[in-house]
Amino acid sequence: MAPKVSPLLLYAFLFLSLFFSQISSSPSAFDFINQLQGSKKGDRVKGLYNLKKYLKTFGYINDLSYNSSSWDADYFSDQLESAIRTYQTRRHLNSTGILDADTVRQMTKPRCGVADIINGRPGGPSEVVPNYRFYPGEPKWPNQKSQLTFGFAPGTPAKFFIPVYTALRDWHNVGHFSFQRTQYEHADLKFSLARGDHGDGVPFDGPGGNYAHAFSPTIGICHFDADENWVDHDPSPHSLDIRSVAIHEIGHLLGLDHSEVPGAVMWSEFEYGQKRRDLTPDDINGIRALYHF
Ligand SMILES: [Zn+2]
Ligand SMILES: [Zn+2]
Repeated sequence: MAPKVSPLLLYAFLFLSLFFSQISSSPSAFDFINQLQGSKKGDRVKGLYNLKKYLKTFGYINDLSYNSSSWDADYFSDQLESAIRTYQTRRHLNSTGILDADTVRQMTKPRCGVADIINGRPGGPSEVVPNYRFYPGEPKWPNQKSQLTFGFAPGTPAKFFIPVYTALRDWHNVGHFSFQRTQYEHADLKFSLARGDHGDGVPFDGPGGNYAHAFSPTIGICHFDADENWVDHDPSPHSLDIRSVAIHEIGHLLGLDHSEVPGAVMWSEFEYGQKRRDLTPDDINGIRALYHF
């Protein structure tokens, strides 16, 4: 005789399986890196070309002179090994040149879309002590222009307003800058959401992966990836804190590049469910050094 299953139990089971499958899946654009774990120089592994593209996007490979159909696209070359070593050094990981578990764990985290190394070199000022960085050439707002205007593109969800104001206020509290809201098209700092390839050469990639970027002075443009689950309150493991990301992207708008100090607001990676809303001494030293105040 077949055992009788109560419909209630069956529903509970279906609900729980759905729930757990959602928790365990949370797909990210960087998930492909997991399949490459353990790769090392001399290997040929399907998908290594995508890793090279990832490292090029974030500034660790200058030039990919071949395409995905070339015979060496998925070959673990000297160039790839050296790029991975540089990445590992910058992340304070063992500089093995091998795509080991620690490196994969770091690389698959969601991150800001701004490259860590621009035009083949990190910005100043220090090569020795890990700290804040400027962009090469140190682009900044003119020192006499300390009042900047900001605006949101028409249609920006209202939940972005308060977290962005608050992040601007936090930069203001450090000194030098003040911020005033104005119409989007006349603003020095322009905030908007964008999706996929949106025409500025740095496409977004769906949920996870790269979630926002902003340009150095005096371009003033900041894009949030419209495919992320953004929240203006304490984030759950499945949502991204607008205020934490805004304070980081505003740092770029003011002239700071990615810091090498883990925990600094200007560190590149930031995860769903995380909060990093407070400027650290490294961030504050950076903005003070750039604007001499
Ligand atoms: Zn960034
Ligand atoms: Zn963009």
